[in-house]
Amino acid sequence: MKLYFASGNDHKRKEMSRLLGGYELTLPKDEGIAFDPEETGRDFIGNAVIKAEALYALVHAPVLADDSGLCVDALGGGPGIYSARYGEEDGRKLSDREKYMLLLKNLEGAEDRSAHFTTALCLILSDDRRCIIQETCDGWIATEPSGSNGFGYDPVFVIGEIGRITADLPEGEKDIYSHRGKAARLMKLILDKETHDDSKE
Ligand code: IMP
Repeated sequence: MKLYFASGNDHKRKEMSRLLGGYELTLPKDEGIAFDPEETGRDFIGNAVIKAEALYALVHAPVLADDSGLCVDALGGGPGIYSARYGEEDGRKLSDREKYMLLLKNLEGAEDRSAHFTTALCLILSDDRRCIIQETCDGWIATEPSGSNGFGYDPVFVIGEIGRITADLPEGEKDIYSHRGKAARLMKLILDKETHDDSKE
């Protein structure tokens, strides 16, 4: 089954391809499709649905969207759905490193460093068939960055279950604990069932 992935983020595609194993994910940009919908949702699920619907309207084929972000308790749950745009001023986007360094600065002296990642996935198979899954990964924000694997805020996020910074983990180990790993494994069950049913027709 060809699956369009409603994202421009190559890191997310890499993780999602690894997690879904066996499904080739096509980004809109792979096919020269201009895709940058306004993420006006109130939460992760709202934005995942916006992205999935926008791409489905263009391709009329199975589409998967991921909306994710880091929610820090001491920042009232922020940057949350604004994680990709954290620290953006006058339209200038910060690099991943600038974003996590800003986060560390904003948490200077904070006693409570607890945080979690959230991923919402929205699958649209056809006009009337959809699936939404949301998962989280609990942890806390380190005091210094470490590691070079992963992407985004991984160099400052400590996975609570194992007490290790995500970017320090070998490739693939993040998937065992991550928000995206948990959500994608559930999504794969649905996709596998779908493919299996298709083959019977
Ligand atoms: P989105 O494209 O609006 O979903 O942006 C999500 C943003 O959250 C990304 O640009 C990253 O900065 C951050 N993010 C999401 N998932 C992860 C992750 O697994 N590790 C580190 N940062 C992440």
